[in-house]
Amino acid sequence: MVRSASEFVAIATHPDPAPRAGAILTIDLGAIAANWRALAARASPALCAAVVKADAYGLGAARVVPALEAAGCRYFFVAHLDEGIALRAVLGPEPAIAVLHGPLPGTEPDMAAHDLVPVLNSAQQVAAWAALARSRRTKLPAILQLDTGMARLGIAPGELDQLGGVADLDLHYVMSHLACADDPAHPANATQLLAFRTLRDRWPGVPASLAASSGIFLGSDFHFDLVRPGAALYGVAPQPGANPMRPCVRLQARIVQTRDIPPGEAVGYGQTWRAPAPTRIATIAAGYADGFLRSASNRGCAWLDGIRLPFAGRVSMDSITLDASAAPRDALQPGTLVDLIGPHWTVDDAAAAAGTIGYETLTALGARYHRCYIPAP
Ligand SMILES: *Cc1c(COP(=O)(O)O)cnc(C)c1O
Repeated sequence: MVRSASEFVAIATHPDPAPRAGAILTIDLGAIAANWRALAARASPALCAAVVKADAYGLGAARVVPALEAAGCRYFFVAHLDEGIALRAVLGPEPAIAVLHGPLPGTEPDMAAHDLVPVLNSAQQVAAWAALARSRRTKLPAILQLDTGMARLGIAPGELDQLGGVADLDLHYVMSHLACADDPAHPANATQLLAFRTLRDRWPGVPASLAASSGIFLGSDFHFDLVRPGAALYGVAPQPGANPMRPCVRLQARIVQTRDIPPGEAVGYGQTWRAPAPTRIATIAAGYADGFLRSASNRGCAWLDGIRLPFAGRVSMDSITLDASAAPRDALQPGTLVDLIGPHWTVDDAAAAAGTIGYETLTALGARYHRCYIPAP
């Protein structure tokens, strides 16, 4: 029987991209929404914003933000002006969108045109935003960031006396950011809290915001009027010890090939790993081009159900070699999925094995994964 070309295409291609995909990233929007609700409940009566910079920490702002909005979030933070412009298109006119970097010189009209709230970090940013407000005879919204011990962004205490133009603005919040909130015992937490309390008194009646994910867990003294979690929404542990957040991400990669190697045989670039005994090697279809950091070479692992499969050798651009000797032979076939992040290995575990933090592991997640979103119920 002769088949027509279109019939052939229909037979030859998978209707679903998942079977073709070397690696699959599954993002649970319901878990993200549940994490926002849990943080909002913990911080109440303070309001709970959502930090969705860096494409919602790599998970896809266009999908994550509507789920957060449906959960009740009405205040969003991004870092860059262009992230704010893109988010405004997703969100429509109502929710507030704050831009952590504030306006770069000359971009103030763009900030205003998209109804964004700049976080003003310097006397120069305050002056430029206030000048635009005066020229338009309107009080433009703003958040004032004060530096209380990070020397990164925010108005330094010594700069406060030269601050002009704040009276021309509609201040939504006075805010600051904690440097060491992931370490509850760190003395900087109390020092920054005290500095922030003292400085915010210059703007009586203006609501205040100090805590990000970790700060929420330092207690109600740190909550003020608005909390700004990012990482905890996406399942990263906000404090050492048991993680109260729900995991939101599963990363699975497919086995491309397996092989048996004798003792002494080397694996991967640089031949940095040698088989101590007869070994079964499985090569999976994800690598550092997918954001799976090369620093996890010889340190990371994948999981087949509950079986740990250590990385053997260096992480390559497109593949990783596993010592799969612990798995039953017939369980490892080309196409079999193993977990790089999943029920047995959290984002924080994968990060620690690469010598980094969950924040970097999430925001490095590559563009090549097939992405599946589990909708919020
Ligand atoms: C990134 C950021 C946040 C969110 O921090 P998480 O630790 O991810 O919760 C909050 N505030 C500021 C100023 C930030 O830069």
